[in-house]
Amino acid sequence: MTKTILVTGVTGFIAGHVVHELLGRGYSVRGTVRSLQRAEKLKALYENLGHDPAKFELVELDLEKDTGWAQAMAECTAVQHIASPFPMEEPDDKMAHVPAAKGGALRVLENARKAGVPKVVLTSSTVSITNGVNKPQGYVFTEEDWSNTDAPDIRAYALSKTLAEKAAWDDVEQYGGPILTVMNPSFVVGPLLNDDLGTSCTLIKQFFDGKFPAVPELCFGIVDVRDVAEAHINAMERETANGKRYLLSAGTMPMIEIAKTLKQAFPEKSRKLPKFQSPAFLVRIIALFDKSVKGILPEVGRLYEVDGSRAREELGINFTSREDALIALGESLIERKLI
Ligand code: NDP
Repeated sequence: MTKTILVTGVTGFIAGHVVHELLGRGYSVRGTVRSLQRAEKLKALYENLGHDPAKFELVELDLEKDTGWAQAMAECTAVQHIASPFPMEEPDDKMAHVPAAKGGALRVLENARKAGVPKVVLTSSTVSITNGVNKPQGYVFTEEDWSNTDAPDIRAYALSKTLAEKAAWDDVEQYGGPILTVMNPSFVVGPLLNDDLGTSCTLIKQFFDGKFPAVPELCFGIVDVRDVAEAHINAMERETANGKRYLLSAGTMPMIEIAKTLKQAFPEKSRKLPKFQSPAFLVRIIALFDKSVKGILPEVGRLYEVDGSRAREELGINFTSREDALIALGESLIERKLI
């Protein structure tokens, strides 16, 4: 019998690829959306990608509400819990995303337990590992590291992801299940399945659109969305992944190098790409007026590396290079006439 996997937040960039890969491997998928209004469009997407429409269904679910969970979990063999708020701007209230991120993770685990769903893969983030900690330049973060939720300058998004992941580990320890595996992807780029960009691809689109004539000295781990999807599903299928977290990254890259890579690959679209790296003092001044800049302030000038070797060795992920992942996104943006 075909196994059914519950995937939360299937309107999202990463979840879309996870669904594509799950259907490709023969699973049935039950996807959650906040509103069924987009159901027909989503069903058409997977049908156009060559999948059997009978294997993809949708249910309505909000991470902050208690309704709909039993129906969503019924007869599923695993949950891919991917949904979580990932907004571009820093909110005034640092705890703004916690009810959906942490509350959602706990609702997933509680309802998986009630329904007898044995395994949950939770999408956390590299920001649950690298933020709010004072490490020497060049430090290599691993799955042993945790962000400091007490750091005064930790971003609301990082806070929500870290508190959610911590709460999830505490929950399964307290109740003895379900089996939990956590994915900690860095900045996710790569090909688009539709015109919904999500926050990470929007940032790269904004590079092309000329939103940033200069960029701060910021360094990101980069990972291709296809590798992220493969990792989620291999983690679900492999027992070695039970009870572990996995950093997903092909390596870090300063923002200015991202711009240079895009310029080299797409010279005809390069006119408005960032050309300079702004000095830190200037970034601090801009942050006084721009909330999206305020959010990244603590990361400015921090150069670090993240170690994706556990995912390579245990999940068999042969990470696409950072450059190829960025180019795949650039090609999608051009094909879809989004830049
Ligand atoms: P998207 O913004 O594309 O997707 C986010 C998804 O979460 C959407 O489906 C959204 O639904 C859903 N969602 C948000 N809030 C709620 C809520 N209260 N109830 C139900 N659903 C909700 O982001 P990505 O695909 O990029 O991110 C997916 C996951 O991966 C997130 O957990 C994010 O933190 C994590 N991640 C992303 C990285 C990246 O660089 N992209 C890096 C590391 C981790 P709706 O369409 O209704 O808004």
